[in-house]
Amino acid sequence: MCGFVGLIGVENAAAGAMMALQALQHRGQDACGIGTVTRGRAHVFKDLGMVSQVFTMGTIASLPGQSAIGHVRYPTVGAGVREDAQPFHTRRPGVLMAHNGNVTNVPQIEAWLARRGIRVQSNCDVEPIMLVFAEGLRGTAFENVKDAVRDVFDQVRGAYTCAAITEVEGEDTLVAFRDPHGVRPGVYGRNSVGAWAVASESVALDALGFEMIGEIPPGSVMLLRPNQAPRVAQVRTAVTHRCLFERIYFARPDSLMEDGRVFQVRWDLGQRLGEEFRAKGLTADVVVPVPDTSRPAAQAMAETLGLPFREGFIKNRYSGRTFIMPDARTRQSALRLKLNPIPEIMEGKRVILVDDSVVRGTTVKRLAELVREVKPKEVHLAVFSPPVKNPCFYGIDMPSKDELVAARVPEAEWARTFGVDTVTFLSVEGLRATAKTPACMACFDGKYPIEVSHDEVAAIVADRRGGGT
Ligand code: SF4
Repeated sequence: MCGFVGLIGVENAAAGAMMALQALQHRGQDACGIGTVTRGRAHVFKDLGMVSQVFTMGTIASLPGQSAIGHVRYPTVGAGVREDAQPFHTRRPGVLMAHNGNVTNVPQIEAWLARRGIRVQSNCDVEPIMLVFAEGLRGTAFENVKDAVRDVFDQVRGAYTCAAITEVEGEDTLVAFRDPHGVRPGVYGRNSVGAWAVASESVALDALGFEMIGEIPPGSVMLLRPNQAPRVAQVRTAVTHRCLFERIYFARPDSLMEDGRVFQVRWDLGQRLGEEFRAKGLTADVVVPVPDTSRPAAQAMAETLGLPFREGFIKNRYSGRTFIMPDARTRQSALRLKLNPIPEIMEGKRVILVDDSVVRGTTVKRLAELVREVKPKEVHLAVFSPPVKNPCFYGIDMPSKDELVAARVPEAEWARTFGVDTVTFLSVEGLRATAKTPACMACFDGKYPIEVSHDEVAAIVADRRGGGT
């Protein structure tokens, strides 16, 4: 999972990109980068680490120009090395590009490129996308850009939203395209002086004072230039399957997506979870969220059940997200540092502990141990998504079935495995009924909208294991 931003027509675009990337930092903490273009010449700075660690006044000053592409990286494939950080640049023709997503057929694309004498040099998915795009770009007219994106859609399978700067009709142009399924998000907007921006989430536009205009249409290519209306061409028919896990866990609650504010989606899921919890004949004394993602759903659940909502954990805001950390051991010791329980909220009570999702099960088990330390009467785990039983091949790190606790452990043993009295997952039907958009929910229901062959699955899993992410 990653985050990108693209800007054009902005004074000191690198500084703007840096601000936008800070708003997207939750999407990746492993590496970041910014590239700018001036008179056809690209300047790129990227390194391992978070935005505030990597960029200084000096590095921003070394990136001149009014157009920029920025990226924060969380690797789902390969080890976290500097060479794989984005954006990527190719000289002939000049293309600077970053993306969010996951390509499922890299070996085939590499073979296609090799037949044309082109070599992929990194482990980063955007490089083959960029090279296919650059190879297809046979001129600088809009028609040529459409042809190049058509080549990408023909050759590249998986989920991807891309932002690039290249010359079109003699002018530097911000180009954005999104695969026909629209799995990964992407929005665009403008400011009051005619500059344009594209980004993974609307919060990046908010940080820059840009107004969000809409989403980057799936299956389309979009051209943006200062003080001009966007030019959009539908290259493939869109068959949208937007990632529901973005709404449940990954995106910021203040982000606006095609189906509305993420906060509202989580609220609706919490309401439904409350109804399903009550239908099981369960009751409790207090509803406690696992901060921060679960807060809207826990509030909605508490309202639905007529129970008090209480913050039972204080979060150390200076520690990272546990899901994003590299291995289970680091994640476990980091959790105690990150969340400290308030005994008076839970002691002697029947507690509903609300979490967003259960993937490996290690975090929830440790959380239950933390709650047990303050001696509640009962602990009821309520999760506002269904059990994750299938890996994701479209950009979220759920590498293999044998690491997914809900796939590995029979349902009758979930409560004992997690160390709680009962477990209530939102039903698949409940999630489907709440979703306001045609969605991918393959990690929950196993119905993959984009074909992934047996060989591709094996290659992706092997790469992830090698990368240790
Ligand atoms: S499989 Fe799950 S995490 Fe992956 S894109 Fe689909 S909904 Fe999102």
